[in-house]
Amino acid sequence: MADSTADVVIIGGGIAGCATAYNLAKLNVKVVIVEKGNIGDEQSGRAWGFVRQQGRDPVEMPMMIACNKIWQGLSQELNADLEWVQGGNLALAKDGESIQRFEESVAISRQFGLDTRLLSRDEVRKLIPSMEGSFIGGMYTPGDGHAEPIKTTTAFARAAQEHGAEIYTGCAAEGIEITGGKVSAVITERGIIRTPVVVCAAGAWSSKIGRMAGLSLPQRVVRATVAETHPVPPVTQIGVWAPGVSFRQRPNGSFYIAGGGGSDYDVNLDTFRHLRLFLPNYLKNRGLFRIRVGGELVKDIGRRLPGSPARKHPFAHSVGVEPRPNPKTVQRTLKNFVEQFPSLSSIGIKRVWAGRIDATPDAVPVLGAVDKPEGFLFATGFSGHGFAMGPIVGIIMSQLIVNGESEFDIHPMRYNRFKEGDLAKPRNVL
Ligand SMILES: Cc1cc2nc3c(=O)[nH]c(=O)nc-3n(C[C@H](O)[C@H](O)[C@H](O)COP(=O)(O)OP(=O)(O)OC[C@H]3O[C@@H](n4cnc5c(N)ncnc54)[C@H](O)[C@@H]3O)c2cc1C
Repeated sequence: MADSTADVVIIGGGIAGCATAYNLAKLNVKVVIVEKGNIGDEQSGRAWGFVRQQGRDPVEMPMMIACNKIWQGLSQELNADLEWVQGGNLALAKDGESIQRFEESVAISRQFGLDTRLLSRDEVRKLIPSMEGSFIGGMYTPGDGHAEPIKTTTAFARAAQEHGAEIYTGCAAEGIEITGGKVSAVITERGIIRTPVVVCAAGAWSSKIGRMAGLSLPQRVVRATVAETHPVPPVTQIGVWAPGVSFRQRPNGSFYIAGGGGSDYDVNLDTFRHLRLFLPNYLKNRGLFRIRVGGELVKDIGRRLPGSPARKHPFAHSVGVEPRPNPKTVQRTLKNFVEQFPSLSSIGIKRVWAGRIDATPDAVPVLGAVDKPEGFLFATGFSGHGFAMGPIVGIIMSQLIVNGESEFDIHPMRYNRFKEGDLAKPRNVL
């Protein structure tokens, strides 16, 4: 890539970046994505694929309800098989405390006109007769669905290109030039792109990108493990979040199974930033995290030493390197899955992988422009549920860039809320 110009440069080719590029390109905006690896290499190609409205923070509800409608026609719009299945989403309760949490979620859903409801154990078993594990009931939203993350993300990228967007893969953004308080260029490892607008859609690396523009985005990154089983005959079209295991069956018959929200947290030097902001949500959900001190911390220290290659190319170490899946999580998840479905006790694992999930202190995204530098916007911080929101995020970001405002209230998602101490209430991850 020779030095060039664009109306908008998007850093990151995950679903947030690709959906934003697609919507901007449709409006004839000259938009470029720079992606350090390949499209969908990180979270957006590694997610379970749940597209759920239930269990969300109230500030996300209006956009997620609108997004669900987009999902229903998305395969047709992008002219691609996204494996979209509107089979509903079901969260199972293991005890009275979970039921109490679900009651709160149902009340939020109802406030927004969603048909989320509580189910007894018998009602759950009517939906999925072969499920026999220990649960006392559940929360169910029939209009929710699931889709295949990598197919969706690459479909957005391809559709964006068809409308004129340029995509550079293997092209890390390594600096942001600011002139007179305004964004003026993105410095990439393959050249400089002059632009008045930069969208940071860099997922787990957004905090680092923010620092290049003098911003301090609070962000934590956890490592989550997923496995795919060999295909079996159809069991259910519902995406299920059960105690100790979440799963969905793909149209090809295989199941994605994961540890029901549990993940590993690798301590690194960034752990000590913004600690106070993260504490309330951490304390509410601490059962879900296993804290690891070791390899990652040592590597991180090494990368920051003078003379380290990472000083020159700060993202190179993250390209083409698979995050480590946790084998114990796979074993435990499989055991929990088979407890739910004894009839599938001989099901085998086809592949396993891990993905890094970025989260904000209140588990609500960061969307929109910052005050300074002018021309810098975030589309990040999706806190483990951003695949589902991707299509509407693309629309919101394009509205903000082209019209200066969005039809949705994104005030609760502004970057400044951290400084102002105006965060969404700590919530349990389902
Ligand atoms: C295991 C797992 C399960 C999940 N399950 C679900 C689910 O069921 N439902 C749901 O809604 N969400 C789920 N999520 C969360 C969801 O995947 C994310 O919220 C969403 O994909 C975030 O999209 P993104 O575009 O913001 O980030 P990403 O997909 O991470 O994309 C960011 C991109 O930016 C690139 N990048 C970073 N730095 C630079 C740089 N300097 N220069 C150029 N490029 C750069 C990265 O390489 C990456 O491709 C899950 C996530 C994981 C990991």
